[in-house]
Amino acid sequence: MSVLGGLLAALADGSVEIVDLTSPLSAQTPVIQLPPEFGQTASFALQEISRYDDRGPAWYWNNFTTGEHTGTHFDAPNHWVTGKDLDDVASVPARRLIAPAVVLDFTAEVAEDPDFLVEVEHLKDVPLPEGGWLFVRTGWSARSHSQETFLNADENGPHTPGLSPECARWVAQDTPVLGLGVETVGTDAGKAHSFDPPFPCHSYLMGSDKYGLTQLQNLDRLPPTGAVVIAGPLPIVSGSGAPARVLALVERR
Ligand code: MN
Repeated sequence: MSVLGGLLAALADGSVEIVDLTSPLSAQTPVIQLPPEFGQTASFALQEISRYDDRGPAWYWNNFTTGEHTGTHFDAPNHWVTGKDLDDVASVPARRLIAPAVVLDFTAEVAEDPDFLVEVEHLKDVPLPEGGWLFVRTGWSARSHSQETFLNADENGPHTPGLSPECARWVAQDTPVLGLGVETVGTDAGKAHSFDPPFPCHSYLMGSDKYGLTQLQNLDRLPPTGAVVIAGPLPIVSGSGAPARVLALVERR
């Protein structure tokens, strides 16, 4: 049987399962909020064009508005100033959109401390895949029904997990991974505005021609290694990122 024939047979008999890692996209999808002196991203919204009515008797369709970085989305290298001369989201090679993933589980640590930071010591003995994703599982997607609990902000700013600055630098510069996937609103921790450098995951990953994937869900349904991820951002020409449908192929034995 051909490789693709074998894959289709495995999908048909359930020995390969597709796990949807994508959060639903709606007006309720949480979006990041920056301090008021900065520009703000738009929430997702539909504008109805017609719905089997005078505006279009047999068809229903919408326009939509959204920020590029809304819901489950892909950060392209040009999203950050450190990668400003690197690929926009439409220029990311399609070959890099299908890749293996390693999933590390920090759910227990994050349940104790929402500001938990992954350190190099947590990762240095893990075989990180060449050209693959590092997915950080935190359980945070359970909060995605609510902007308030998802952003988890108080008077000192948001409290959400992420990577320490040194860990972000190490992942970007000293490992062969393609990018970092997280359950939170962005790849950086809630407190990362105060880190040196600020927002180190963005700064180091984008500057190293690597990618981010955010607001992933169902990471608890992935094995630690062995999943193959298909990440499909919209090819917005010159765009800095885009909402993405992210699917994982998982072998069930
Ligand atoms: Mn983003």
